[in-house]
Amino acid sequence: MKKLSLHKIIVNFLYLFFCIFIFSTPFIDTNIISQNVFSESNKLDSNSLTGDSGDGVAINSTNKPKVAFLTFDDGPSPNNTRQILKILKENNVKATFFIVGEKAEANSEILKEMSRSGMCILPHCYSHSYETIYNTPDSYFNDLNKCIGVIKRITKKTPQSYVRMPGGSDNLVSKPESLRTIRNRLNAKGIDYVDWNVSSGDATADTVPASTIENNIFDQCKEKNFVVMLMHDSYYKKTTVESLNYTIRYLKDKGFQFKTFEDLNAFERGTMIKTGIMNRR
Ligand SMILES: [Zn+2]
Repeated sequence: MKKLSLHKIIVNFLYLFFCIFIFSTPFIDTNIISQNVFSESNKLDSNSLTGDSGDGVAINSTNKPKVAFLTFDDGPSPNNTRQILKILKENNVKATFFIVGEKAEANSEILKEMSRSGMCILPHCYSHSYETIYNTPDSYFNDLNKCIGVIKRITKKTPQSYVRMPGGSDNLVSKPESLRTIRNRLNAKGIDYVDWNVSSGDATADTVPASTIENNIFDQCKEKNFVVMLMHDSYYKKTTVESLNYTIRYLKDKGFQFKTFEDLNAFERGTMIKTGIMNRR
């Protein structure tokens, strides 16, 4: 009997201790949770303050966003640029234009409209004469600097540090050692050179049928989650404009978000370098 009652006392004591512990635990946990929520919301706030929502998406590697960068070379053109801008606006899409300085001087109002529309304007070259540009590395940089000067003068904005080399970074016009020097000097100046991983194929002839452009885009985009698309904005490229609605609709249906090089984040830049779209060696 004595033994049993002692056992009972011990059990009751343990039960009481257990109840006190259980009762106090929620308060401890609540404090921890509320601290976590507070620090998380701080992180979100600081991201949204810096406008770095893209990085926030990129961190979640299990849910990779599909991103498309539409790029137009060789503009502005007197007949096509405004139509391109209109279609982009109707679809609420921003694109990147690698422009030609000479064309920008001849169509300065169009370049201003492009800038006002929130498009990303980057240098391609000034003259687009391969012989002049690729004569020596110095002639490449003289031409490029002239183009950057035109952008600054007309748009009153300094372009970001990205360029697209005429003919691409591995073109066959320039001597390989000269190209290597140009690429190294660009990177040494903190400038990234940008190629593409999807070509609309609109430069294979003066006028390529819209259906061919659409097929090219379909074939090259169907397996991709990350697209930097080469198109042209120049006088003869009417079919590029004709196929633009298809291009945008197709990418939207596949779940792509559209971005420009103005809001390129570190993850996307890293992806471009890794996949040879940017700073290709
Ligand atoms: Zn070009």
